[in-house]
Amino acid sequence: MFLGTSGSVPTARRGPSATLVRRGGERLLFDCGEGTQRQLLRSAIGLVEIPEVFLSHYHADHYLGLPGMLKTFALRGRELPLTVHGPPGLVDLFSALQRVFGKLTYRVELVELRPGDALDRGDFRIAVFPVRHGISSNGYALVESERPGRFDLEAAQSLGVPEGPLFGSLQRGDPVVLANGQRVEPAQVLGPPRPGRRIVLSGDTRPCPSVLEAAHGADVLVHDGTFGQDERDRAEDTGHATSAEAAELAREAQVKMLVLTHLSNRYFGPEIAREARALFPETVVPRDFDIIDVRFPERGGPRLVKGGALGRGEEGEPHDGLGSGGAHEGPHGSGGDSDDLAVGGDPVGARGRGGAPPERAR
Ligand SMILES: [Zn+2]
Ligand SMILES: [Zn+2]
Repeated sequence: MFLGTSGSVPTARRGPSATLVRRGGERLLFDCGEGTQRQLLRSAIGLVEIPEVFLSHYHADHYLGLPGMLKTFALRGRELPLTVHGPPGLVDLFSALQRVFGKLTYRVELVELRPGDALDRGDFRIAVFPVRHGISSNGYALVESERPGRFDLEAAQSLGVPEGPLFGSLQRGDPVVLANGQRVEPAQVLGPPRPGRRIVLSGDTRPCPSVLEAAHGADVLVHDGTFGQDERDRAEDTGHATSAEAAELAREAQVKMLVLTHLSNRYFGPEIAREARALFPETVVPRDFDIIDVRFPERGGPRLVKGGALGRGEEGEPHDGLGSGGAHEGPHGSGGDSDDLAVGGDPVGARGRGGAPPERAR
């Protein structure tokens, strides 16, 4: 769920970095740019008591939303502990932020993570990999464990396994013994194990071998797409990527879908998408409140759901009545560019306003 897709500064249509990953009952927030709590309030899920936040690095556009959100939770009397993860420097950052948010009603646990670290969550893990952004920065890969193979009903029936709890045992990988004493192994009724899903979030970065490695074969790669090709040099100087560079990496990594975010306020979105799609067609450039539904490969793989995170009262609003709210579209969708609302539009974006300079070293 994309809550903020702008780089460095918010625009009228895009908040700074914040991405919520939901899986079953889990909610993991990756980066928390300024205004993230309000983006959550406007979304269909609301400002829920997020249990865990993962920061990619300590440029202000990635954490300024934390003090305000932490304070709001305290004003509401939150008791559920909050864990904040981030690269080394997290404890220092919080000793400074503490003066802003003051005393809280709940415990905040700080966990500094280094590249190579991994958090085991049972049926998935969160692996930390290095990126290239000029300061201490973490990329995060969410990697599901292998799933058991497909259950072969005919095979089970022909072996005389009665429908019911024994099916479940076999599906979980446990052998069963039938009433006649015959033992049935899971391998007799299950197909080959199927891979789990993998989502890779690069954060701000240059394209680099460690991102390529982490992204290899991923279902979804969410990558820095700050600049267009006309600003290749600036991308290099500021530790960011052009959309074409990200697309080349995605192609080499053979990901199923490339998601470009952290757009400089010089761009509206369509031009970023166009340049990337010329090299890697399965690219999307979401707007705030768009969702990527990461389905299993056999169910169609990842797809973009435009405006999928909008709250009821806000249906269609960020699309300005242009009527695409809630529309479903896969990566192979309309293929439209300039008139494709999912890749931008941004009719009142910050381009040129007040002469704000584009990002330098955020
Ligand atoms: Zn940034
Ligand atoms: Zn940065």
